[in-house]
Amino acid sequence: MTHRPPPSRYIGRFAPSPTGPLHAGSLVAAMGSYLDARAHGGLWLIRIEDLDPPREVPGARRAILEALRALGFEHDGAVELQSERGAHYARAFERLRALGLVYPCACTRREIADSALPGAGGAQRGRELVYPGTCRNGLPPGREPRAWRVRVGDATIAWRDRAAGARTERLAERVGDFVLRRADGLWAYQLAVVVDDALQQISDVVRGEDLIDSTARQVYLQRSLGFPTPRYLHLPLVLAGDGEKLSKQNGARAIDTARPLEALGQALAHLGVDPPAARSVADFWPAAVAAWRQSRWMR
Ligand code: GLU
Repeated sequence: MTHRPPPSRYIGRFAPSPTGPLHAGSLVAAMGSYLDARAHGGLWLIRIEDLDPPREVPGARRAILEALRALGFEHDGAVELQSERGAHYARAFERLRALGLVYPCACTRREIADSALPGAGGAQRGRELVYPGTCRNGLPPGREPRAWRVRVGDATIAWRDRAAGARTERLAERVGDFVLRRADGLWAYQLAVVVDDALQQISDVVRGEDLIDSTARQVYLQRSLGFPTPRYLHLPLVLAGDGEKLSKQNGARAIDTARPLEALGQALAHLGVDPPAARSVADFWPAAVAAWRQSRWMR
């Protein structure tokens, strides 16, 4: 496994899944990644993570992009769609397979739930199950492949979050061999995100804290594929009344873009940065970039 440092030029990204409109939680991720990119004089890309048609909401992609525009976000380059990037994921998958790291798995979700031990991590979203390795040395007789998994062996991943600091995770204890290609034939998020971050030369990933437990898996794939590892910054989540991450499932409302300064000010305050007194969206952004530069996120 090679350890490669992030690309030297700052390139950030916002990577929403089109499973609903832009809401208070996704606005915080968009804002944090945007301010951090601009405060570093970097580029900011948008990538729509439309990898999972069953979870997609018709019109959500357009609604997210329109809301971002109405709030004064200005992205660099063209908006990329993961749904158009399958050939890249297939190539990375084949490389991992050629390294002997991929195997087919016949287990159903039920079977895994029945035999798995709860993972050591994943406090935010409930504990993830550790795959018990049932198919690691070959499919049981008479069983058909469903998903494809990557072997994690005894990999211990040490990485650093800009806010949370140093983390060390043994993948076998936390998740075990994880899925690269799902039983329904779709590419798994963990593979797609790593391939796209590398091909788009992302130097800095700034996103919600719910993904902090995915990062070790992503670093493992980067090292296996010889890709650089970006810097990571995970931001505090916006929680719903029930203490869960705000999401479409617990009724996150679309941002009201008719009152842009209110939405922008709230998102910035959530990040612990005092919103500037701004009379217009055009005034807000330069002042917010200046405030971000002085904030704890840049230290
Ligand atoms: N598409 C993911 C989400 O909307 C974000 C992925 C990422 O930033 O790595 O939760």
